Amino acid sequence: MKISQILKNKDQGVCFEFFPARTEKGRKSLANTIGILKDYKPLYVSMTYGAGGGGQGRTKDAVSLLLETKELEVMPHLTCLGAQCTAIKELLDEYKDKGIENIMALRGDPPQGVNDFDFTQNDFSYAIDLVKTLKAYGSFCIGVAVYPEGHIEAASLEQDMEHAKQKIDAGADFAVTQMFFDNKYYYSLMDRMHKKGIDIPVLPGILPLTDVEKVKQFASICRATIPKHIEEKMQRAIGQPQEMEKIGIDFTIEQCRQLIKNGIKRLHFFTLNKPQIITKILEAVK
Ligand code: FAD
Repeated sequence: MKISQILKNKDQGVCFEFFPARTEKGRKSLANTIGILKDYKPLYVSMTYGAGGGGQGRTKDAVSLLLETKELEVMPHLTCLGAQCTAIKELLDEYKDKGIENIMALRGDPPQGVNDFDFTQNDFSYAIDLVKTLKAYGSFCIGVAVYPEGHIEAASLEQDMEHAKQKIDAGADFAVTQMFFDNKYYYSLMDRMHKKGIDIPVLPGILPLTDVEKVKQFASICRATIPKHIEEKMQRAIGQPQEMEKIGIDFTIEQCRQLIKNGIKRLHFFTLNKPQIITKILEAVK
């Protein structure tokens, strides 16, 4: 079923994002993760594409793993920067043949260390180009990314919102946010979107904050502010990984509770393929 329809039918629920495995051991662990989390009857599950250097093959393999369960609505992510239009269309044919009805349409990032990357010298320059291709292709419900604190390359929140509106107007059916650790950024994103007349569903992307150093590194390249009080509390637990994890999980539980209290009852979890962390959060916010 198309996710747009699922979101029309259900005003609460969870969604899980996984990443493809690199090794046979990782594949087994991913299968185990899927097996555990499917019992929470997610609205949909998604599989990242190419992030961290993984190729198309790994995503396709991991998508097949999700499809094997036969009970999950599966959304592969697809990035377009540096891709050729013909290759993208071949992949869409493959996904369509497998019964997939949803694609997360992303630009992706230029290769690391290339500062003067020319975004205009490709079949696709921005996510909007992939949204247009998907729209013309016709079969898929389209998800896109939006950024509560603005995308790292954007000169201003206004400019980022203008670009987001353009890709949504081009045919996106729903959006998922970049991670954020202070709900005020999500609420203010929603305000900005409403002011622009955008009314598609926008699911908050929740990253469990369990290792402050790793998340700080990641957050700095994604523009996601970690509140000082939680950063300091977690830093005091450096060297005590279990204590740090507990502080982080408690923080994420409270973040989810506050969203739910404010009527945001559909949550998209970046699972990091760690089911034990996600289940602790889900059991606490039930
Ligand atoms: P775009 O919407 O194209 O925006 C990118 C930047 O370009 C923004 O600053 C925007 O303001 C600007 N821009 C847009 N249009 C124009 C224009 N016409 N002229 C000038 N500037 C413009 N990455 C992966 O590699 N694999 C994944 O699986 C993956 N999954 C993700 C899932 C989520 C929920 C999120 C939030 C991100 C994900 N990413 C993934 C990361 C994403 O690829 C990067 O954040 C990337 O830098 C931007 O992608 P986008 O689709 O938002 O791009």
